[in-house]
Parts: sequence; C-alpha cells; structure tokens
Amino acid sequence: MAETIFSKIISREIPATILYEDEQALAFADINPQAPTHFLVIPKKVIPKLSDATEEDQTLLGHLLLVANKVAAEQGLTDFRLNVNNGAGASQTVFHLHIHVLGGRPFSWPPG
Ligand code: C5P
Repeated sequence: MAETIFSKIISREIPATILYEDEQALAFADINPQAPTHFLVIPKKVIPKLSDATEEDQTLLGHLLLVANKVAAEQGLTDFRLNVNNGAGASQTVFHLHIHVLGGRPFSWPPG
C-alpha cells in the first residue's frame, strides 16, 4: 500500500498535535480546521480509502468510531459531525483512511 503524509505523522517524521494513540489508531488535530474543533482519526494500518476496507477490518473500523467518541468527549463535544471522504470525487486528498470529527459550531444538512 502506498504511504502518505499520514504514515509520516504516525512515525513522527512530521509533526502533528496528537490527541490520542493506541496500537491500532491515532487521532490528531487537523492542520486546516474547518470548525473550532476538528481532528482526524486514522488507523495505523494503511487503508487508502473506506471502500478498500474488507471484512477483516471490521473490528478496526468499529474501533475508529469509538476513538472518535472518546476524543470528542475529551474535547468537550456533545454534538459533533463525523465525515469520511471516499475518493477524489468526494474531496478525499490524502489516501489513508481518516474520519474527520468536527464540532464547536452548528452544522447544516444536507452537507455541501
Ligand atoms: O478528506 P481529505 O483527504 O480531504 O482530508 C485530508 C485532511 O488532512 C485535510 O483536512 C487536511 O487539512 C488534513 N491534513 C492534516 N495534516 C497534514 C496534511 C493534511 O491535518 N499534514
């Protein structure tokens, strides 16, 4: 699997504000926040995009959501939005699966 800038964040080759880490996952503040709180939850395993995940990733994918919950609570968020961009046509720019977690402002629906 091709490595991206997120692999370099995992390995600490480039800096990031890390909010949570365990053996499977990392959460860090988005460098270009789109809300007062905006962080990313990523698997350490390189999965380029959500649609590349397989049955063997089932537990890992569930874990990422629980990490999102945990860090959101630590950040004082009660209402927040999760977003996964899957593919360039959906505005994905970094091809290492990541869940955006945004909070601290109102969000409209439908999204843009
Ligand atoms: O979903 P998408 O691929 O567009 O999102 C990538 C996200 O990664 C962007 O929100 C961007 O700000 C973030 N990013 C980051 N740190 C980097 C490079 C990108 O937080 N060094």
